[in-house]
Amino acid sequence: MMNQYARVVVDLPAPGIGDRYFHYKIPKEFLSQIQEGTRVMVPFGSRKLLGFVVGFDSSPEVDRVKEINRVVDPFPLLTKELLDLARWISDLYISPLVEVLKAILPNFYATTKPKEVTVIKLAVQQKEALSYRDKIKRRAPKQAQILEVLMQQKKIPLQDLLQVSGAGRQSVKALQEKKLLIMDRERVMREPFQQKLFGLSSRLQLNPKQSELLGIIKHKIDKKLPGTILLHGVTGSGKTEIYLQAIEEVLKNGREALVLVPEISLTPQMVKWFRGRFGSLVTVLHSRLSQGERYDQWCRIREGEIKIAIGPRSAVFAPFTNLGIIIIDEEHETTYKQEESPRYDAREAAKKRGDFYSCPVVLGSATPSVEAYYSAREGKDLLISLKERVEHRPLPPVEVVDLKEELSGGNRTLFSSILYNHMEKVLSRKQQIILFLNRRGFATFMVCRECGFVLRCSNCSITLTYHASQDLLKCHYCHHEKRVPEQCPGCGGSCIRFLGLGTQRVEKGVKDLFPRARVLRMDMDATTRKGSHQDIFKVFQRGEADILIGTQMIAKGLDFPRVTLVGVILADTALNLPDFRSGERTFQLLTQVAGRTGRSSLGGKVIVQTFNPDHYSIMAAKHHDYESFFEEEISLRKEFQYPPFNRLIRVVFSSLSEKFLSQKAGEFKGMLERSLRGIQAEILGPCPCPLSKVRGRYRWHLVLKSLEFAEIHRVSREAWQEFYKTAGNREIRITLDVNPITML
Ligand SMILES: [Zn+2]
Ligand SMILES: [Zn+2]
Repeated sequence: MMNQYARVVVDLPAPGIGDRYFHYKIPKEFLSQIQEGTRVMVPFGSRKLLGFVVGFDSSPEVDRVKEINRVVDPFPLLTKELLDLARWISDLYISPLVEVLKAILPNFYATTKPKEVTVIKLAVQQKEALSYRDKIKRRAPKQAQILEVLMQQKKIPLQDLLQVSGAGRQSVKALQEKKLLIMDRERVMREPFQQKLFGLSSRLQLNPKQSELLGIIKHKIDKKLPGTILLHGVTGSGKTEIYLQAIEEVLKNGREALVLVPEISLTPQMVKWFRGRFGSLVTVLHSRLSQGERYDQWCRIREGEIKIAIGPRSAVFAPFTNLGIIIIDEEHETTYKQEESPRYDAREAAKKRGDFYSCPVVLGSATPSVEAYYSAREGKDLLISLKERVEHRPLPPVEVVDLKEELSGGNRTLFSSILYNHMEKVLSRKQQIILFLNRRGFATFMVCRECGFVLRCSNCSITLTYHASQDLLKCHYCHHEKRVPEQCPGCGGSCIRFLGLGTQRVEKGVKDLFPRARVLRMDMDATTRKGSHQDIFKVFQRGEADILIGTQMIAKGLDFPRVTLVGVILADTALNLPDFRSGERTFQLLTQVAGRTGRSSLGGKVIVQTFNPDHYSIMAAKHHDYESFFEEEISLRKEFQYPPFNRLIRVVFSSLSEKFLSQKAGEFKGMLERSLRGIQAEILGPCPCPLSKVRGRYRWHLVLKSLEFAEIHRVSREAWQEFYKTAGNREIRITLDVNPITML
């Protein structure tokens, strides 16, 4: 007897169970239906649970084996390749396999079925229908009306027929009994596109540089060469057109394409371009689709009807079986890494898939992540660059205002005189303004208002965060503490201030200075209601407001042609986030924000306010100079041994009670240290996270830093499993974040 037993992972959130499989006997009648990746219902204890078949055995591991109750899907939703990818993710990111499967199949629980509707067709020849219609015209006008419609359309869904003809079901039935029409069931696809028609977009003429780069990508596609290509192109350099023409090549080769964007709000834009070029071969995959829509798109991809899928992070799992290219737009965005379990990185998953299908993975960005650029520059990946905007449009001028000078001039408002004057001008011209503030205004830091000096940790190079309750400055990586100095260590002056700023304060400041301006605010608080994000954008786009104040949400992708001024209120809040990537984020944000303006003939200007006008991130953003930013950043990374020179695993401890948190985190560190003996590794912390309390849970963290990734990976996994064996440790939740992208 062969393979009568299935290995099934069940969805049970208990620690340690989610990644184990259990044996179940396959009843004879299911033997032919069940494959790897099939969803099944199985008895588990006294319950019935949904599970996934992940393998087979000819004999069971235990004596008493239960039987599978039911097969959920008519065919497996997952391919073998996706199942292997799930295993790889589960292993690398130390997440239970079942959680990965749930991330891959967004409607994991749904028992969604294909949708069918009743359609009506004529059962007789046109001529016959016509003569019958004439016969009954007087006596049964409704029936005649139905025949009329059917003579024009070969088939029509029943609902539509009733609506168009104005007839009732009785009339349809009567005609059916007379054998004049046929009723049938037919599968329909639930369409995710509200907009049915997309304007055709025709190929744009590429400039010589674009053609050259396209040629390189095409060569990889044709020769089936895997590997990563980093496309570094300034904003407005025509990356999208290269994507589109590369995909044309992929389709010519009979293969498929996957396009990832950083977030859902950016999909409509992409979809418009792609549907305009490739029509119904394109679909979207994201979490705002209904379950039915999502299921249908999934099936259409499985069945080969769809050739191109666009979507955010989770779309990387689109069930294609013949990929010819994977494109990741705005590669540097942190949203490609999931911030909850499984903490996978879609860029890594994409590379894995690219290798499997022998196809190139194209990473596009105006401000590549330091890791991606480093890898390309070291020759591991291919670097191609577009340094010119199409039609030689200039990049918007960026003016940096030194707030120290403003202060010494006596201006104590949030607005420098330069920003104020420009705002006044723009408002009088009835154009629009965006005021930008970094999202995380929570961290208060110390800055000298005379020389701009900011206190950083000498171990970690992270800005120290000010804690008012203890009047102390703290490092959120290594727990180093410092008293607030009475004099500035930089200039000896006494003008030390603490800065932390929220959008609401900016809003109030604007209203005080410009009482007649119409102001919109967009941040997490203002957009928690679903859809309000888009609503605010639409109001602004229609010109019903003059000033939009917001966080990085407004920095991305959208075009507002009437915006001619972008003001960054305080670049320092981004610069001094307690995260080793704060310099990189600041450069990316400023570049992106600058890209929001000057998109029309009206021109535009960017004004950046800061206490640190000489910081390399700000200088480089001002000059649109990625390379000089990179050189500074990479040497700092090297000095403090951050990625790409080291690998990190971050361990976050959280609990509803603060009581044992530091003690348990310390014990955990002890476990790690014992296992790491003889291994080159460093542990930072434990200490409170910069975001020290989230949704009622207190948070501490520690960070493992080493080049011996396999070792720290093994050790932290073992310690994590070990930790839960001690009763009393269950109140504390430990999450492991492999290759973390934020440290907050
Ligand atoms: Zn430190
Ligand atoms: Zn100073």
